[in-house]
Amino acid sequence: MPNSTPDCVGHYDLLVIGAGIHGAGVAQAAAAAGYSVLVLEKGQVAGGTSSRSSKLIHGGLRYLESGQLSLVRECLRERSLLFANAPQLVRPVPFYIPIYRRTRRRPWQIRVGLSLYALLTGLQPQARFRRLPRAQWPDLDGLAGDDLQAVFQYWDGQTDDAALTQAVLASAQSLGAHLRTTCPVTAIRAGAGVCEVDAGSDSTAGCYTAGMVVNAAGPWVNSLLALATPAAPTLAVDLVQGSHILVAGQLERGIYYTEAPQDGRAVFVMPHREGILIGTTERPFTGDPDTVTASTEEIAYLSECYRHYFPQRQPPQILASFAGLRVLPRGNGNPFHRSRDTLLHATHGGRLLSIYGGKLTAYRATAEKVLRRALPLLPPRSARASTRRLPLPPAAASAGER
Ligand SMILES: Cc1cc2nc3c(=O)[nH]c(=O)nc-3n(C[C@H](O)[C@H](O)[C@H](O)COP(=O)(O)OP(=O)(O)OC[C@H]3O[C@@H](n4cnc5c(N)ncnc54)[C@H](O)[C@@H]3O)c2cc1C
Repeated sequence: MPNSTPDCVGHYDLLVIGAGIHGAGVAQAAAAAGYSVLVLEKGQVAGGTSSRSSKLIHGGLRYLESGQLSLVRECLRERSLLFANAPQLVRPVPFYIPIYRRTRRRPWQIRVGLSLYALLTGLQPQARFRRLPRAQWPDLDGLAGDDLQAVFQYWDGQTDDAALTQAVLASAQSLGAHLRTTCPVTAIRAGAGVCEVDAGSDSTAGCYTAGMVVNAAGPWVNSLLALATPAAPTLAVDLVQGSHILVAGQLERGIYYTEAPQDGRAVFVMPHREGILIGTTERPFTGDPDTVTASTEEIAYLSECYRHYFPQRQPPQILASFAGLRVLPRGNGNPFHRSRDTLLHATHGGRLLSIYGGKLTAYRATAEKVLRRALPLLPPRSARASTRRLPLPPAAASAGER
């Protein structure tokens, strides 16, 4: 047992560190299961990766190529729950895959991939896909027509990642969860039956106790774990930067799923608010996650990809750019082939559980797995709701403190 700190200001069943989508999801699941919950966030809700993603709620068609079938199946299941529970935040969007003479993946490969994707989706309207008749190609937002051989259309989901995170957190708060923002965690002391967490700075500094602590700090996961005593091993991961640019213009038809002309990587060209969002990249990152920004090279790479596929449009006028960090298992190879599954790493007798990686789409499934780990460690409580059926309306304003 750690030295007990007399000025600990509150006890919770579960203390969650980080108010990204995973922290919000765990808080919602735990509050729905009847636990008392506190979320501590060093900045603002969704200030990290959860506002810098590609904003897709999808199974991840490309993960079929690397054989991640169970991940795709899980994400497709979660996608249909989000279509049902968050219709104002997650909407089905048509995706177009153009195949040119030089495209690496051939039409038959795309057809096989989409058939498998539809099979994993099950009997739902979003499972349908088709090869677009040539007569409809000119309607595709000025998509380059030279050497175009086929265009496939299928359906996936699009969201506003920060708004979704805020909605999940607001749902957690409506079930009784508490939130403190601008409250960085500075120390975690794990004992046999309880953990103590120091957070905040100067006048706001405080100590909280909890039956279990969930480390949902995204790319900061290992620096957070390093704050814990007794010291515990971290998992070996790489941070891989992914950038997006927002350019002026509008897309009428939907999202274009292209292969970057430079290296064949998947790049999405998407309608987004007042412009067109293009992303993403994959670039090793070794610095401080707080400093990640899109580099000049990444901006040029994404601009070139857009120009290549939409040559009739004006040259890209860049309105904004942003970058986020993937947390991937350490490896030497192409990040594309590394598992995108979420890893749960239990230390300190299971009382500190760290979440590594994962998908925005699968946050609820991840939260369920976290709760299954928490159950044996926490006192019995009466469930209030099931996250499978909880509606997620847009939060009135940004999720505030409670
Ligand atoms: C470029 C890119 C594109 C992506 N696109 C998609 C997509 O289209 N669809 C999809 O499903 N998934 C996508 N993902 C994956 C998805 O975005 C992430 O898995 C998810 O957002 C991670 O959420 P998180 O809560 O784990 O981390 P974060 O959102 O980073 O949240 C961690 C939080 O912890 C806080 N924190 C850190 N340290 C402390 C501390 N000491 N004290 C208190 N708080 C702390 C941070 O401030 C932050 O708010 C993408 C990821 C990237 C990088």
